[in-house]
Amino acid sequence: MKRPCKNIVLFGPPGAGKGTQATFLKEKYELIHISTGDVFRFNIKNQTDLGNQAKAYMDKGLLVPDSITINMLAAEVEKHPHAKGFIFDGFPRTQDQAKALDALLQSKKTTVHAMIALEVADDILVERLLERGKTSGRPDDANEAVIRNRIKIYYQETDVLKAYYQSQNKYFGVDGVGTILSITERLCDVIDAL
Ligand code: AMP
Repeated sequence: MKRPCKNIVLFGPPGAGKGTQATFLKEKYELIHISTGDVFRFNIKNQTDLGNQAKAYMDKGLLVPDSITINMLAAEVEKHPHAKGFIFDGFPRTQDQAKALDALLQSKKTTVHAMIALEVADDILVERLLERGKTSGRPDDANEAVIRNRIKIYYQETDVLKAYYQSQNKYFGVDGVGTILSITERLCDVIDAL
């Protein structure tokens, strides 16, 4: 990786707007956007081994096991040896994933520069995901019980990462409610100050 610039973990519960915001940020900062959810969905659509392994977990709103997810993420990063930096969207989601990401980036003489979390109240998340489910074609957005399970798992397994990055002074919380543009501006303020 030549002269890495910024590696950003875009964080927040399902429906917080990570994917939407990542599409703007990757253009502006010329970063590679890796959404682990998108990679899994691509593999499910193409009926690969990885997709077949991930599907059962995703349909229930459960996390795909770390052993599968970490290897997949590493392979995605390796596809972009000349990247200026990455936006990680939906990864890491567990402490082991966060440690694996640290080790991977360290091996490339770089690091996570910031975890930026989009903060959105649970009721708004459920509303947004049900709305998205009308058009996204995602089975995990179509069912309120699965949506609530994904949010529950976020608090059980993923939210602890806030402390992981806070202890390294890399955590930044941003209000994730408002117009798409106003939220993008809040994110850019954080990134520009890094
Ligand atoms: P997302 O598109 O980020 O909402 O992810 C959709 C689903 O993909 C999640 O509910 C998980 O089943 C799976 N998934 C995505 N990223 C990860 C990850 N980092 N670790 C484990 N499972 C993941």
